[in-house]
Amino acid sequence: RTYSDSSSFSKLLVVFTVSGGGLLAYADANSTSPIAPPEIKKKRVVVLGTGWAGTSFLKQLDNPSYDVQVISPRNYFAFTPLLPSVTVGTVEPRSIVEPIRNIVKKKNVDVHYWEAECFKIDSQSKKVHCRSNQNIDGKGKEEFVVDYDYLVIAMGARPNTFNTPGVVEHCNFLKEVEDAQKIRRSVIDAFEKASLPSLSDEERQKMLHFVVVGGGPTGVEFAAELHDFVKEDLVKLYPAAGKYVKITLLEAADHILTMFDKRITEFAEDKFKRDGIDVKLGSMVIKVSDKEISTKARVNGQVATMPYGMVVWSTGIGTDPVVKDFMKQVGQQETRRVLATDEWLRVEGTDSIYALGDCATINQRRVMEDIDSIFKKADKDNSGKLTVKELQEVVDDICERYPQVDLYLKTKKLRNIADLLKDDSKSSVEISIEELKAALKEVDAQVKNLPATAQVAAQQGAYLAKCFNRMEEAEKNPEGPLRFRGEGRHRFRPFRYKHFGQFAPLGGEQTAAQLPGDWVSIGHSTQWLWYSVYASKLVSWRTRSLVVTDWVKRFIFGRDSSSI
Ligand code: FAD
Repeated sequence: RTYSDSSSFSKLLVVFTVSGGGLLAYADANSTSPIAPPEIKKKRVVVLGTGWAGTSFLKQLDNPSYDVQVISPRNYFAFTPLLPSVTVGTVEPRSIVEPIRNIVKKKNVDVHYWEAECFKIDSQSKKVHCRSNQNIDGKGKEEFVVDYDYLVIAMGARPNTFNTPGVVEHCNFLKEVEDAQKIRRSVIDAFEKASLPSLSDEERQKMLHFVVVGGGPTGVEFAAELHDFVKEDLVKLYPAAGKYVKITLLEAADHILTMFDKRITEFAEDKFKRDGIDVKLGSMVIKVSDKEISTKARVNGQVATMPYGMVVWSTGIGTDPVVKDFMKQVGQQETRRVLATDEWLRVEGTDSIYALGDCATINQRRVMEDIDSIFKKADKDNSGKLTVKELQEVVDDICERYPQVDLYLKTKKLRNIADLLKDDSKSSVEISIEELKAALKEVDAQVKNLPATAQVAAQQGAYLAKCFNRMEEAEKNPEGPLRFRGEGRHRFRPFRYKHFGQFAPLGGEQTAAQLPGDWVSIGHSTQWLWYSVYASKLVSWRTRSLVVTDWVKRFIFGRDSSSI
């Protein structure tokens, strides 16, 4: 198919083909024959997804030598950290979204957005197959194909159901803005239904039993928001219903918020207990029917069943089927949850496809495979052992290539290696490849997965855009580490994740924060820190002002409980 677009200059008509390799042809609109076309062969970059990773990439890309095509079923960027607030009306849905066309309206880069989903990536012929969101004149959803020179996969992930029966059919997810809107309506509908005159106490109890599955940051924040909504707004409007409300949080592990410091976990569990939120630890959901949810206790295998009014399922992320199919094509193990990339975010087994955000992870397993070659390079006298000086070279090499490693050099088993390196007097101490591998196994276990967070996705998007901006320059003057296999240097430094800490809002205007250096802060003052950080991170001044206005409105008038 051929699509045309007109620029703001009336004399120029810009024609491009979506499947035609990114050739721009300029023609004089007032003349019948085209002027001698200054043909510019631009490399086409196709970006799949307009979430944290894709949007961050697009915002930072400023090299005009690319023809950028963005494909995503969502024509907006959504600020996901505020989704739990949308479920109860603390913040309105439109306040946290920004149209993608506003974001990509760049003066110097050609960016075209297509509202469609990619249903197949064909890495052999470098094409992506897409299906439009729109049903045109009853003819169904149009399908089209887009060629690429570079592909950036930033499609996020699906909620993980662990194939638990009944979850897809009966549970609410909290992933998209539509999910949050649906939850908000369901909560209010439950209160309206429970207020009808002819119901028994038992029926009211069932309707007002809200179950949250998953004690991670999202599940915990939703339970806290729901508790505040009920306590601060709904029980005042539905006084008779108040006594029937129950919130249950089910967590399969021994604690909630396990990724946080123990002090935060303990504080959250105590606070929920005081608030009357029933936290059931070691409870694995095994089945959900239209009326009941069944759990199995981890300690004794006892099965329990409870009636519910609404379930919100928030147990982490699973693989998108399109990504799964693509994994097969490029020879990645199907048991993987996400795509494996190298430290430059390039999908393993490909040369021009990158993957960022929740759909990908950097494959740190190759640290171990590389050790042999690094070791052999450093072991100049072929003795099978390294001196401390040689060891220093090995560790420097590894740290340069795997930036996360140096974080762990200071910890646990690697501490003794770090000590050896610091202490010159031990220059005669030697280390064998086996010892080195044993020590680095620790690193391998710790650094293989970055968390699936907006923070990681946004940093990866910004990193990759910077690489694309400097592609030609870096080709001439590579700035990366020496190649372990082959000659010369890598073009770019590898991606390095900088952790700025994480928040866990716990309701009642209290938040817990774990900041770099394991600095923990909990309470009302941290809630104000949360307000300021999230307001500053919003994507535009428009959304920033809307969200702050929503917060002020909530303080003054309470939350809106109408079920629209
Ligand atoms: P997403 O942001 O999910 O974007 C994926 C994009 O791909 C979307 O635009 C989608 O429409 C598009 N897409 C999907 N399928 C296709 C397809 N077939 N073809 C083309 N495009 C497609 N992280 C934090 O760091 N801090 C927080 O406080 C925080 N809170 C969260 C709260 C909630 C409720 C949720 C759900 C997540 C939260 N996260 C938080 C996690 C964070 O949102 C994700 O890690 C982040 O969104 C990942 O970014 P991404 O770009 O990989 O994916």
